[in-house]
Amino acid sequence: MKKEIAERLHAEYDLLWHDSMSALPDGWTEPLVNLLERMYRLSTVGPSNFMAPGVITWCQLRVAVYQSSAMAFASPMMPPGKWHPDRALACVEALAEFHGQTQETCVVCGADAFLRMRILGSNTEGVFCDEHNPGASDEA
Ligand SMILES: [Zn+2]
Repeated sequence: MKKEIAERLHAEYDLLWHDSMSALPDGWTEPLVNLLERMYRLSTVGPSNFMAPGVITWCQLRVAVYQSSAMAFASPMMPPGKWHPDRALACVEALAEFHGQTQETCVVCGADAFLRMRILGSNTEGVFCDEHNPGASDEA
């Protein structure tokens, strides 16, 4: 990820940011922003809360980047009694959606994409759109 994008997200989401996120390719910036935004809004999910959205940091996040997807891991920062089922579910859904989105998003440009595998004629395994598929030039 470009350094200036990482720095901007770090400033914007402060406590939710973790340096592992800067290892994400540029194309996966949007799935990351969706994840951060949903985690930031977690205090508005479930029973009404007098605190403003995002004031509470419900989770600490880490990201692991793989060839064909990225995964987000969360550790709850609030004691168990604070976790209403709706809020816990919203947290798990945000993590699952991040993983799912990276599997369908070009690592280069962020366009719709799918997994290219070496055995299917691609040079490099990874999630690419038609334009950025590294194996595409070999097909002619
Ligand atoms: Zn692309």
